[in-house]
Amino acid sequence: MADRLAGVPLAPYTTLRTGGPARAFTQARTQGELVAIVAEADREREPVLVLGGGSNLVVSDDGFDGLVVRVATRGVEVTARNSAADDGRVRVTVQAGEDWDALVARCVAEGWSGVECLSGIPGLVGSTPIQNVGAYGQDVAQTVAAVRVYNRRTGEVGDLAAAECGFAYRHSAFKHDPGRHMVLAVTYALERSPLSGPVAYKELAARLGVEIGARVPLADAREAVLELRRGKGMVLDRDDPDARSAGSFFTNPVLGPEEAAALALRAPGHPRWDMPDGTVKIPAAWLIENAGFPKGYERGRARISTKHTLALTNPTGEAGAAELLALAREVRDGVHEKFGVWLVNEPVLVGLSL
Ligand SMILES: Cc1cc2nc3c(=O)[nH]c(=O)nc-3n(C[C@H](O)[C@H](O)[C@H](O)COP(=O)(O)OP(=O)(O)OC[C@H]3O[C@@H](n4cnc5c(N)ncnc54)[C@H](O)[C@@H]3O)c2cc1C
Repeated sequence: MADRLAGVPLAPYTTLRTGGPARAFTQARTQGELVAIVAEADREREPVLVLGGGSNLVVSDDGFDGLVVRVATRGVEVTARNSAADDGRVRVTVQAGEDWDALVARCVAEGWSGVECLSGIPGLVGSTPIQNVGAYGQDVAQTVAAVRVYNRRTGEVGDLAAAECGFAYRHSAFKHDPGRHMVLAVTYALERSPLSGPVAYKELAARLGVEIGARVPLADAREAVLELRRGKGMVLDRDDPDARSAGSFFTNPVLGPEEAAALALRAPGHPRWDMPDGTVKIPAAWLIENAGFPKGYERGRARISTKHTLALTNPTGEAGAAELLALAREVRDGVHEKFGVWLVNEPVLVGLSL
């Protein structure tokens, strides 16, 4: 089994560059190792933090008083057919430690359609079901066929079908009950097609010069998404201080009819997406900007990205988690005061609360 190291600083393992030392740190290169490490820590009642690419984490300046397990498992297995669901889709089973964007690039090159709009999202495959990663009209809930998990309560390894994963907007059963399942591998069911799924996002359709619902060559969809993301500082780039973030810091609030009516009174004509279930999704970026927090707004050494209102950044790498959270609280409280809507953080906070 891999060595345990003491006092490893966590900041270099997160894209926000915050986080003090881990009491113990190790990495797992095989599924068996991953299960054995976590099972032993659970037996010893040692707190565990499962670490992927660290791109959706805000770790406390005090670090983590337990064992950090970095997922470093590798492997991609391609199955042409699945006898239980013989729909002609290719099934790709990917170990949790594989890089997500490298997988997307491969899918695009192979002619496997369904994840191309998720190009450029940082992090590892095992984290994609956790918050049902999504962008530009796609999310992984549309293509996940099964998730192989280690159930830390029962000690068993098994497969969860997509319907058992509780997928919703930036949410899942895994996020709802964080300590329960460790994701070991994910199986995606992808259409064999040189074309993207129907383009479902206005900004992407405009960039591609097509109507909503059109299908375009996979490589065109990937390139257009990457260009849009670069323009917003939403791809990892060492030279871009705006990319020192955890992506969007707040989710778009989803309001029930009464809350939506109350907001419409306070902000007539505000942008909104009416959802099929009667709820209303509000762009958090609009709320933030209209509450008085423009792009580039600073508090101490933390800053709202100069390219994208939803990303809180650590532009010099010197801000601590406490400074980032102070900015997040100021924004959240300012939006609530102006619009009566509470914003909710998207990244996972470790040893911190908003
Ligand atoms: C520049 C930038 C752009 C981004 N854009 C998007 C976007 O467009 N859409 C989007 O949805 N997200 C986006 N994100 C957020 C982030 O990239 C995703 O949430 C990603 O899936 C996180 O992966 P990770 O491996 O870095 O997870 P980590 O940050 O390492 O972990 C996130 C959480 O998942 C848990 N976890 C990790 N691996 C496992 C596992 N194998 N089993 C159980 N739990 C696990 C961790 O304990 C933690 O709670 C962006 C982030 C950045 C920095």
